Amino acid sequence: MPTDRDYYEVLGVDRDADDRAIKKAFRGLARSLHPDVSSEPDAEARFREVTEAYEVLSSSETRALYDRYGHAGLRSGGFTPTQFDIGGLGDLFAAFFGDDLFGGMRGGSSRRGADVAAEVEIELVEAASGATVQVPFEVAVACARCGGDGVEPGTTPVRCDRCGGSGRLQQVSRSVFGEFVRTAGCPTCSGRGVIVEHPCSECDGAGRTVERRPVDVDVPAGIHDGQRIRLSGKGHAGAQGGRAGDAYVLVHVKPDPRFVREGNDIYSQVDLTIVQAALGLTVAVETLDGPTELEIEPGAQPGEVRVLRGKGMPVLQGFGRGDHRVLVNVSVPRRLNDEQRRLLEAFDAASDEHTYRHDESFFEKLKSAFR
Ligand SMILES: [Zn+2]
Ligand SMILES: [Zn+2]
Repeated sequence: MPTDRDYYEVLGVDRDADDRAIKKAFRGLARSLHPDVSSEPDAEARFREVTEAYEVLSSSETRALYDRYGHAGLRSGGFTPTQFDIGGLGDLFAAFFGDDLFGGMRGGSSRRGADVAAEVEIELVEAASGATVQVPFEVAVACARCGGDGVEPGTTPVRCDRCGGSGRLQQVSRSVFGEFVRTAGCPTCSGRGVIVEHPCSECDGAGRTVERRPVDVDVPAGIHDGQRIRLSGKGHAGAQGGRAGDAYVLVHVKPDPRFVREGNDIYSQVDLTIVQAALGLTVAVETLDGPTELEIEPGAQPGEVRVLRGKGMPVLQGFGRGDHRVLVNVSVPRRLNDEQRRLLEAFDAASDEHTYRHDESFFEKLKSAFR
């Protein structure tokens, strides 16, 4: 499908640009837009557009036609952009530009294996310490029966007549760059040079079978819920010697009812009675490292926060750990018997303003807990 856009605009050159400037612009754009190089989704369409623009502007005949009558002039002059197969352009570019533009980017007929994904759920304490978990992957592996070549053991494939066993065919390719003879994979034998008459009974000639393979995955300390771990080369086997794909493990971190995680900090709560809060005591609190003792001073207030420095979650791929913040909760009795009521009333009678003197309000402390 020819483009409607202005060819000079497509190449980003002035209307009076000379041949050298046009070639230079084309070369730069072709380099960045070639689908082997670019990951842009419309790279191929833009590459074709740029090539079409170059095809017209690099010939004085079509350029003059275009300058005078535009796209309509080209159409009535019988011009159609050359059709070409992008996959075979690498060699042409090398000859045209005098260097190997996309050298090394094509791996012959080998193909990289596909990626695989799996999910795993771990406990928060495992996320804190780091863990090795077994993840069951279904991966395509080289077939054990035929060793991956797809040929039934004991049989011999026959030579391909079309390519004479070389796996390659010479083709004449026409493009804006001129006519080139290039070699391409033989379509009859898929470039193998042989025809397999007796495919392997295990893999049906594919050379690969699916295997459920548990993989030990090291989950790094400090991982967050929803993060993925990439295992390079642990995916499906590649075809014809291509390298294996990657495996991705989506990690879910189960919430722990004892803790709330906020980034790398951990929050938990300690429940005191009014008497414990008033008299002070040593309580056992749960941390990611196990129980630890926490000293509560007499006169502890609800909403107060005790910070256990460095007892939070490890920093993922970093140094140090977050903090563990313990919120003090004070329970007020809901039901009193006669004696308890009498004692509290006697306590109240013995109290004055010094009994309840405090420096910071409950609300201020609550706010500081979430700072
Ligand atoms: Zn097989
Ligand atoms: Zn062949």
